[in-house]
Amino acid sequence: MPRTIPEQAIQAMLKREEALFTQRNPISKQLSEDAARNWLKGVPMHWMVDWGTPFPLFIARANGVDVTDADGNHYIDFCLGDTGAMFGHSPPAVVDALQREGANGFTTMMPSPDAAVVGKLLEDRFGLPCWQVTATASDANRAVIKWCRAITGRKKILVFNHCYHGAVDDTYVTIDGGTPHADPALIGEVRDLTQFTKVVEFNDIPALEKALADRDVACVLAEPIMTNVGMVLADDGYHSALRELTRRTGTLLIIDETHCMSSGPGGYTREYGLEPDGMVLGKPIAGGIPAAVYGFTQGVTDRIRKFLETRTPGHSGIGTTLSGSKIQLALMRAVLENYFTAEAFGPLVALAKRLEKGIADVIIKHGVAWHVVRVGARVEFMCTPDRPRNGGEAARVIHRPVDEAVHHYLLNRGVIVTPFHNMMLICPATTEAHVNQLVEGLDRCLTELMG
Ligand code: PMP
Repeated sequence: MPRTIPEQAIQAMLKREEALFTQRNPISKQLSEDAARNWLKGVPMHWMVDWGTPFPLFIARANGVDVTDADGNHYIDFCLGDTGAMFGHSPPAVVDALQREGANGFTTMMPSPDAAVVGKLLEDRFGLPCWQVTATASDANRAVIKWCRAITGRKKILVFNHCYHGAVDDTYVTIDGGTPHADPALIGEVRDLTQFTKVVEFNDIPALEKALADRDVACVLAEPIMTNVGMVLADDGYHSALRELTRRTGTLLIIDETHCMSSGPGGYTREYGLEPDGMVLGKPIAGGIPAAVYGFTQGVTDRIRKFLETRTPGHSGIGTTLSGSKIQLALMRAVLENYFTAEAFGPLVALAKRLEKGIADVIIKHGVAWHVVRVGARVEFMCTPDRPRNGGEAARVIHRPVDEAVHHYLLNRGVIVTPFHNMMLICPATTEAHVNQLVEGLDRCLTELMG
C-alpha cells in the first residue's frame, strides 16, 4: 500500500524552507524591494512571483546547466527556462552565431540569406514544407488558428481540457463540472469563448467524435502529450483515432510541439510518426531568444495561397514587425544545424532514462504514492500513484503544497525543478553527477517528509 505524506510534514517543510531561502538570499531580497516600486508585483513579468518563494530569486548568470543567483549561490538547472533553454543556457553554437551575426544587423523588414537554409532545415527535421516565423509560440498558435478559420470558413476550434498553448484566449475554456466555461483566471476577454471553442478530455475518443461530428470545427489544436498539467501521455491508438476523426470531418489537425520538441530531433511528430496538417515550434527554436515558427502541409499551403488571392491586401491580423528577423534566422539556423540532430539527442535521452530510473527507485524506496514518466529528454514525477489519462484527472490530483515543498527543498540545496509542476529536462551540459545530485536531493527530501 503506497504511503501518503503527512500534511503536517509538508507544511513544516514549507515553513522551514522559506526561512532558509530568506537566510540564503539577502541580495535577492534587497533587489526585490528595490524593484517593487517600478514593476507590477515587483517583477518584469508578473508570473515570475508564482514560484512561490518568499521573494523572487534574482539571477545574475546562466551557462549550460549552471545558474548563479545575485547572492552567488549556484544551481543545477533542470527547468531550463521551461524548455526555452532546452539546449542549455547560452548554448555555444548560438553564442557563436550571436557573436558572428550580432554586428550585422538584427532586423530589417526584409529576408536574409539564412531564410532559404532555415526553411530547408525545418522541412528536413520536422517534415512540413511551408513555414512562417513569429516572436513567440503564443503568436504562432494565434496565427495558426486564424489561418485555419480563414481557409475552412469554420468559426470553432477544439482544444483539450486543461491544455496550455500560451497567451491564446481562444484556448482558455475548461469543462470541469461538466459544462464548458471560460477559465476564470483569464483577464480582459469580452467574448463568450464557449461559442467558439469546444473542449473535450484528452484520450476520450467518443467525446472527440461527437464534438467533431457537426463539421463546424476549423482545427483541433493539440499538444501530442499534455505537458502543462503534469505530463499526460497519449493512450495507444489515440493519435491514429485523432487523425482519422479529423480527416473524416474535414478538421485540420495542428500539433503544438513547443514543449515536445524535447522528444527527439524531429519533435514528437517525427518520433511517433504523426501526420499533422500544421505544427507549432516555439521556445528553444532560436536557443531561447524570442522566436517561434509554424508550418503547414502542401495541401494546407495551397489552400492558404488560394484564399489570399481573394483578399484585399492590408493588415491581416497576423504579424509582427520583429518576426522573421535576420537575427532570429541566424540563431534558428545555429540551433537546427547543431542541436536538432540525432547525434545531439542520443545522450540527452540516455541521461533522461537514468533520471527516470533514479526517481522510480526513490519512489519505491520510500513507498510513496507517486509515479514518474518520461518522453525523450523530458521527465516528470507526479505526486499521485496512477498516471492521469486526461487534463481533468491531472488537475484534480495535482497537490500544489507538496510540489512546492519539494521544489523549495531542492532549490535551497542547489537544484532547480520547473515550477507549477515537476518537470525536469536534460540538456547537453547535464551530466550524470547532476542527475545523481537531483536524485539524492529527492531521496533526502522524502526521508524528511516521511519522518
Ligand atoms: N504551447 C505550449 C505547449 C506551451 O507550453 C507554451 C508555453 N509554456 C506555449 C505554447 C507558449 O509559449 P510562449 O509563452 O513562449 O509564447
